[in-house]
Amino acid sequence: MNFDKLNALQRQLDEVDEKGLRRIRRTVESACQAHMMVDGKPLLAFNSNDYLGLASHPLVVESLREGASLYGAGSGASHLISGHSLAHARLEELLAAMFSPFMPSVRALTFSTGYMANLGVLTALADSAKGDITFFSDALNHASLIDGIRLTREPYQVYEHASLDDVSQRLSSCQSSTKVVVTDGVFSMDGDIAPLPELLRLCEQHGAWLLVDDAHGFGVLGDSGAGVLQHFNLRSAQLIYMGTLGKAAGVSGAFVAAHEHLIEWMVQRSRSYIYTTAAAPALAHALLTSVRMICGEEGSRRRAFLQTLIEQLSTAPIPENWQRMTSTTAIQPLVIGSNQAVLKVSADLMAQGVWISAIRAPTVPVNTARLRITLSASHTTEDVDRLVRALSFKSIS
Ligand SMILES: *Cc1c(COP(=O)(O)O)cnc(C)c1O
Repeated sequence: MNFDKLNALQRQLDEVDEKGLRRIRRTVESACQAHMMVDGKPLLAFNSNDYLGLASHPLVVESLREGASLYGAGSGASHLISGHSLAHARLEELLAAMFSPFMPSVRALTFSTGYMANLGVLTALADSAKGDITFFSDALNHASLIDGIRLTREPYQVYEHASLDDVSQRLSSCQSSTKVVVTDGVFSMDGDIAPLPELLRLCEQHGAWLLVDDAHGFGVLGDSGAGVLQHFNLRSAQLIYMGTLGKAAGVSGAFVAAHEHLIEWMVQRSRSYIYTTAAAPALAHALLTSVRMICGEEGSRRRAFLQTLIEQLSTAPIPENWQRMTSTTAIQPLVIGSNQAVLKVSADLMAQGVWISAIRAPTVPVNTARLRITLSASHTTEDVDRLVRALSFKSIS
């Protein structure tokens, strides 16, 4: 045991500890719900992205079982070999129909994860532009967008968060023949919504694509859950929409919806689509159920109730010297400041049986460590009351 690289790793891990940045995993022993068993302890959780409570919905779970009976456990191959099942095809048709009001000639393509979907769409765009492309990325974009842009090895510019002036100036002074503005729809750590109508107008003026990562809007925003494009009632051939299926949809996976020419190009060129085993068809089969629920009455009811909970929490008192973000979504972060402070608060809440994750740098800027509270339609108003009490008790202690 004298391999010096291991000693170096040990020292680096010690440094992570000293900075209060060690990340740990807790082991969940029950389904993803408001009340969960975690490391042998019952906790009221406010940290999943299961915004509609579909991850443990009996109909979705039953569809997963049915999908396994119909298609077996695994797909056996990538989509272009023999892994593309009828369930995947039906799911793509359902998603395309859902997004037809927002993009002309729309088609949808499913991926195993949102991370892979973002890599896939960004690299496919770069591949078609033959070295004459620039990406414009919001400063608070999700890591998977940042990594996807880096993977293209093409030039990119980071614009100030949600700043239309900054985007406008950068687009005006860029000579590339292909320009792509890239943004989260709902920002994952702040909960605010991107100014999409204005961004789309700028993109249309400058002949740019607008790629929207709506991981936290799909299923949650819009009258029938079609997310941020429906929220703003947008329609354009220049839109590219990425939605994830492991958050509000409660299962796993992701999709890109866009004009059929771009989707077909991605089938030909997206390496994160081509060179990976297709997700289990049973997952797609379960998603047929959960996406139909999202579009239907059950989804509307759950979105309306979630809105009630958001209002309940966002108007409740919070400890002085914590900062509430201006979020109208299910992501309701409370900024506390230092890593040590947020870890202490998180541990105190845990002692009261309330589980909220402490989010620290580099996921968020230094000294803006925060509790990222997420609400779900599976919470009750009593659950939110208990959260508010736990937070105020915190401020006294
Ligand atoms: C979660 C998330 C992703 C990644 O999706 P996965 O399906 O979990 O890989 C991408 N973008 C944003 C904004 C996210 O929050």
